[in-house]
Amino acid sequence: MEIAEFKSAYPSMTVPMGCPCGSRFWIPIKPKERFGIPVKFAICFKCGHTFARYVMNDVALDQFYSSSLYRNLYGTLSVQEHIDKLHVPEKTRTPLWQIAEPFLKDKIGNIVEWGSSGGWNLIPFRDFGHNVLGLDVSSPYIEAGRKTYNLRLELINENTLKDLSGTQFDVIILNHVLEHLVDAEGLLKQLIAVSSKESVFIIGLPTIESTQDYGFNNFFTVAHIHYFSKHSLTSALNRLGLSLIETHRTHGGLTFVAKQSDVLNRKFNVYRFVYSAYQISSRYLKFFLRRSARKLLEATGLYNG
Ligand SMILES: [Zn+2]
Repeated sequence: MEIAEFKSAYPSMTVPMGCPCGSRFWIPIKPKERFGIPVKFAICFKCGHTFARYVMNDVALDQFYSSSLYRNLYGTLSVQEHIDKLHVPEKTRTPLWQIAEPFLKDKIGNIVEWGSSGGWNLIPFRDFGHNVLGLDVSSPYIEAGRKTYNLRLELINENTLKDLSGTQFDVIILNHVLEHLVDAEGLLKQLIAVSSKESVFIIGLPTIESTQDYGFNNFFTVAHIHYFSKHSLTSALNRLGLSLIETHRTHGGLTFVAKQSDVLNRKFNVYRFVYSAYQISSRYLKFFLRRSARKLLEATGLYNG
C-alpha cells in the first residue's frame, strides 16, 4: 500500500480511543501526524495526557508493522545492521545503566526488559555482573541479539507473565515501548503484579518535553499512540500504584524511575492540562514562526534552501 492510499483508508481501519484515565473531556490539538495520516491528537483535560484519538484495529496494526510501507517510512537498516550498530563495547556506562546503577549496588540484580528488541540496552547490565532477561515480540531481533550479544532473550508468549512471577526482579525496564501500545496501562498493571515493593521500574518515553529532539512536525507519528508529559505520566503511575522517584533527560525523551508506593496522589489537578497545552502550543508557535519566516525569505529570494 502506498502512503496516499493508506491515508485515505486510515479512518476505515481505526477505532476511537479515549484517555486511559477514563475522562471524556479532552481538546483536539492536531488533526494529522507527520506523514499526513488523520490520527487526530487530543489533550485530556483531567490528566494532561496527549494521545491519538483514532488508533488502528488489531488486524490493521499487524498489517502495518509487517508492511513495506512501514519500512519505507521508518528507516531502512536490516536487523543485523541495527544490532551491529548498537553493539556497545564491554562495560560501557550507557545512560540507562547509569540510571539503574544506584539501585544495584552491592548485589547481583535480576533485570528484565520488556520490549528489549535485540537486547542492546542489557549489554552493560550483563557486563557489570547482573542477571538479565530481554523479552520481545520480534523473533528476528531476538535471534540476532542472542547470536551477536550472547544475551538471554526470549520471545513474548501467553505464558511470559506467569513465568516472570517466579523471579524477584530488581529492575524492570520499559524503554520506548509504552508509547506504541493501545493499552499501555494494561501492560504496566501486569508487570506491577509480578513485581515486588523493592522492584524499580525504569521507563523511557518520547515525552512532549522533548519535542525539539524530533522537530514539532516530526514528533507526532502514527506509530506512537501516547505522548506523556512528566505530569501525565505521574498521574498514570499513581493510578496504578506506582510513584515517581526520579526523572532523567535522555536522548529522545525522558526516563523515569518509579516504585510501588502507598503514598499516591489521585486528585484532579488542572495544572497537568495547562502544562501539556503550554508545552505543545509553545513548540507549535516556534515551529510556525520559523516556517513562516522561511517562506517569506524564500518568496523574497533572500533564502533558498
Ligand atoms: Zn486523562
